[in-house]
Amino acid sequence: MNRDVMETVPKKNTPIATEPQFRLPPLGECALLLDIDGTLLDLAPSPHEVRVPPKLAKALPALLQRTQGALALVSGRSLNDIDRIFAPMLFPAVGGHGAEMRISVESEAVASRAPPMSADLSRRFAAIAGLHEGILVEDKGYSLALHFRKAPDAEKAIYDAVSAIRADLPNAPIEVLPGKLVCEIKHSGFTKATGVTELMAHEPFKGRRPIFIGDDITDETVFAIMPDMKGLSFSVGRHAKGVDGHFNAPRDVRAWLSHLLEGERTAAE
Ligand SMILES: [Mg+2]
Repeated sequence: MNRDVMETVPKKNTPIATEPQFRLPPLGECALLLDIDGTLLDLAPSPHEVRVPPKLAKALPALLQRTQGALALVSGRSLNDIDRIFAPMLFPAVGGHGAEMRISVESEAVASRAPPMSADLSRRFAAIAGLHEGILVEDKGYSLALHFRKAPDAEKAIYDAVSAIRADLPNAPIEVLPGKLVCEIKHSGFTKATGVTELMAHEPFKGRRPIFIGDDITDETVFAIMPDMKGLSFSVGRHAKGVDGHFNAPRDVRAWLSHLLEGERTAAE
């Protein structure tokens, strides 16, 4: 890792918001890869209730411009859902845990290469929502998410039911992604890390130093590949294994992104 970068990495367990000297290589050499829920945005009672704060809505397009297009949202959400949340803005994105990708704002979304889950599997997993009225089913085609932010006590019953279905179908090509008050069942074979790896092979991301920020268990696959890509990774809300530093909360991530822009502006003056 570049020594200049090492010197600017925040001390472990120190909130970045209190590290005003924190600097990265010039934005023109970075690729900013940002998880959405719990990283850029505060979690809401249900996934469709999240809001993009006005300062973030200003900062993200400016960062997209400063990185010459090398900023991408990396999420378990579908591209459609990402676009709905950030409308009217559009960003390069890896959606559906790597099942979908849009390399640039101008390009068409790369069609989902992940095969859809069989109707029978979707139906069986969706039926788990019958356990509690607070469980919300989100069918993304290639995956099915059971959100239980409104029924946190249902967690064990949900995972027990998922395990029972998997035990019944030991050869089904599926995997379970535990998240924050969400249990997602998806086709095996793609992850956020496979999505990021593919994205980084394309211009304008190619050859950049990736900076990834994420908060959840599914982000750990990306934390793990950052060293090989000479990148840096930061977790949110906890100090995850293998990261270069962490933020306490999404508001600290947002403040840091605004700070990045201000720093570049100051440096250019
Ligand atoms: Mg997240």
